[in-house]
Amino acid sequence: MNLGRLNNILEQYPPYRSRQAYSVVFDNLFSSWEEATNLPKAFRAILARECPLQIDAEMHESGNGKTVKAVIQLDDGVAIETVLMRHQDGRNTVCVSSQAGCSLACDFCLTGARGFMRDLTAGEIVGQVLLFARRLKTEGERVKNVVFMGMGEPFLNYEAVMKAIRLMNNRDGLKIGARRISISTVGIIEGIRKLSREPLQLNLSISLHAPDDRLRSRLMPVNRQYPIEKILDAVAEYIRLTRRRVMIEYLLLRDLNDSPAAAERLAVLLRRSLGWLFFVNLIYYNPTGKYLPSPPERIREFQRILESRGISVTRRYRFGREIKAACGQLAGSSRIRGSLNITTTQE
Ligand code: SAH
Repeated sequence: MNLGRLNNILEQYPPYRSRQAYSVVFDNLFSSWEEATNLPKAFRAILARECPLQIDAEMHESGNGKTVKAVIQLDDGVAIETVLMRHQDGRNTVCVSSQAGCSLACDFCLTGARGFMRDLTAGEIVGQVLLFARRLKTEGERVKNVVFMGMGEPFLNYEAVMKAIRLMNNRDGLKIGARRISISTVGIIEGIRKLSREPLQLNLSISLHAPDDRLRSRLMPVNRQYPIEKILDAVAEYIRLTRRRVMIEYLLLRDLNDSPAAAERLAVLLRRSLGWLFFVNLIYYNPTGKYLPSPPERIREFQRILESRGISVTRRYRFGREIKAACGQLAGSSRIRGSLNITTTQE
């Protein structure tokens, strides 16, 4: 969706037309202006020509129906991926991409291996949520949560991400509560600082993945620019200013960062730097060919050590691995490679 063009057109009309048009997009969730029969025909025709609502996507559904991955083809032919996760308790979460590709080249992530294409516009980001909101509406359901854990680094596309979030959250937008929107970052300090000063109560997640700089720099080259200490200082300030609980993400890689000693170091580091207003989210590695996932008993032991230090720990449920929809598996190239099949394998 090209929001810039939509707004340019709407500027030429009285404000009530803007409200009507936004309501067609975000309340009615129509996929074409033609459906908006409350609008004059000529107005609809202009909107259809300048800002079509159709989103060109190819859907891949997991066998159990819990995960749907959409490969969206953007106007310039670039493909991005976005994922709908349907939790047991009825929560529907959309995992959105903020960039096509990613420039950070984390060693365990497939998106990073494919390189960076371009930033997404606010319309392209909110469009990912719209796509699934439209689909869920046919079942009488809504998108409840949005996580910026798809392709790209949200804080390297800050303005577009915040503009998209305002549209997701606004009364004339999708009305998704700010507390239900999470941004995950490798730790771009400028982004953390700016977010600390935003009026919205969003959630912040930090991809830490290692308890020391040597290992982290090996896994995540961006650590050379943004080392752990500096990131945690910015996070501590975020906690002080917002009083919001931060999620520390920790991806467990066999024999690399999953030892009991690593758990001890992580516990000490986090407690010293962040106090109490945080929790650790342990992430299973979705194999991308580079590393091995930690065995379950290692993960349990890691969790036990953190908890014995009074740290709350959650574990990330593995959604959609068989359709390559899980964290780190979004490559954005299935259309290019021509795989048009709907995958139906069971998890
Ligand atoms: N750039 C942001 C958001 C995108 S990635 C960030 O890094 O936080 C969302 C999460 O998936 C991050 O924590 C990322 O480190 C993790 N991830 C990347 N590759 C993964 C893989 N192969 N298995 C599991 N998690 C992975």
